[in-house]
Amino acid sequence: MKVLITGGAGYIGTHCLVELMQAGLVPVVLDNLCNASPDALARVEQITGQQPIFIEGDIRDHRALELAFQAHRPSAVLHLAGLKSVGESVDKPLEYYDNNVVGTLQLLRTMREFDCHRMVFSSSATVYGDPATLPIAEDAPTGGTTNPYGTSKYVIERILQDWAAADSEAQVIALRYFNPVGAHASGLIGEDPQGLPNNLMPFIQRVASGSLERLNIFGDDYDTPDGTGVRDYLHVVDLAQGHLAALQRMEQPEAEGFHAVNLGTGNGISVLQMVKAFEAASGQAVPYSIAPRRPGDIASCFADARHAQEFLGWQARHTLESMCSDAWRWQQFAESRT
Ligand code: NAD
Ligand code: UDP
Repeated sequence: MKVLITGGAGYIGTHCLVELMQAGLVPVVLDNLCNASPDALARVEQITGQQPIFIEGDIRDHRALELAFQAHRPSAVLHLAGLKSVGESVDKPLEYYDNNVVGTLQLLRTMREFDCHRMVFSSSATVYGDPATLPIAEDAPTGGTTNPYGTSKYVIERILQDWAAADSEAQVIALRYFNPVGAHASGLIGEDPQGLPNNLMPFIQRVASGSLERLNIFGDDYDTPDGTGVRDYLHVVDLAQGHLAALQRMEQPEAEGFHAVNLGTGNGISVLQMVKAFEAASGQAVPYSIAPRRPGDIASCFADARHAQEFLGWQARHTLESMCSDAWRWQQFAESRT
């Protein structure tokens, strides 16, 4: 099966590439490299022994999409391309809606032209906003988003639902990721954010390596067991395998229409638990200070992971220890290159 992966040169995309290639699928990457480098694709080749097909192009560029579909005729699309920084989206809402929403519309238009009806979409637990109950199941209310990034994911899901309702052949699986962390066990691919990281795990990695002095823990007075924020962290290789499971599910009966599926472990981990786990896995100290709560943050968020098991036959398998040790191996590799 030929699969177009938009955003395939990025953090999650490169891990999906490895899993797809190792399963014998033929992925075609379309990425404008706004947050990625071709080096990552060369390292995917080092891991898999196969060179990924790569097209440099933007999903908002209809002509580039047409050329990609003409040349490769993909039977499914993994749609990962998008801008993803919550804070930046508040400052640049138009850029976020243009890139994420308009880009998706262009992609759907091209899929329709080329008779391609299967899409796996990178959605996010952020579509649930501040959940009323935990764990969060897929039928929980969505749309209470608090920033343009989250709203762009919510709007895209709505567009995909409408598209699936109008096209009887359409198969759409929106994967609502919880908190992807870690790296491939080879240590050759991972997340390497530009500038100061926003997310917890890359920040901890840089404190452990000594390139940042200390972690600010945003609030220790939440209604959680130790007062710090609780999230559902999942290993990026598990996440990538979830994409493969979604593609395989589309070959099975009753896959038509729109399906939302949580990808998480179902376990909530606090910031302090994560700091301790990282210290144990890396053997490095992670000094921290308690800082005020970060505006917009919620206390707790973790998945009800049962639907992923029932519908996709997927469940997260990696431990917190391997999330940390694989992230640490990648951090050391990433810093050795600079
Ligand atoms: P990433 O930034 O590493 O990867 C996104 C890729 O898309 C990058 O390679 C970038 O160059 C490319 N891209 C962006 N805009 C493009 C455009 N207009 N045309 C072509 N390529 C474009 O991010 P990631 O962490 O790998 O995330 C992948 C997807 O998963 C994103 O849609 C993101 O919103 C979503 N997601 C990520 C997380 C997370 O914590 N990493 C959580 C939930 C959802
Ligand atoms: N967090 C923190 N310090 C940081 C970054 C994050 O204490 O430098 C906390 C944040 O308040 C939240 C958790 O870590 O409770 C996960 O934050 P992240 O931004 O990684 O994910 P999200 O909040 O988007 O789920």
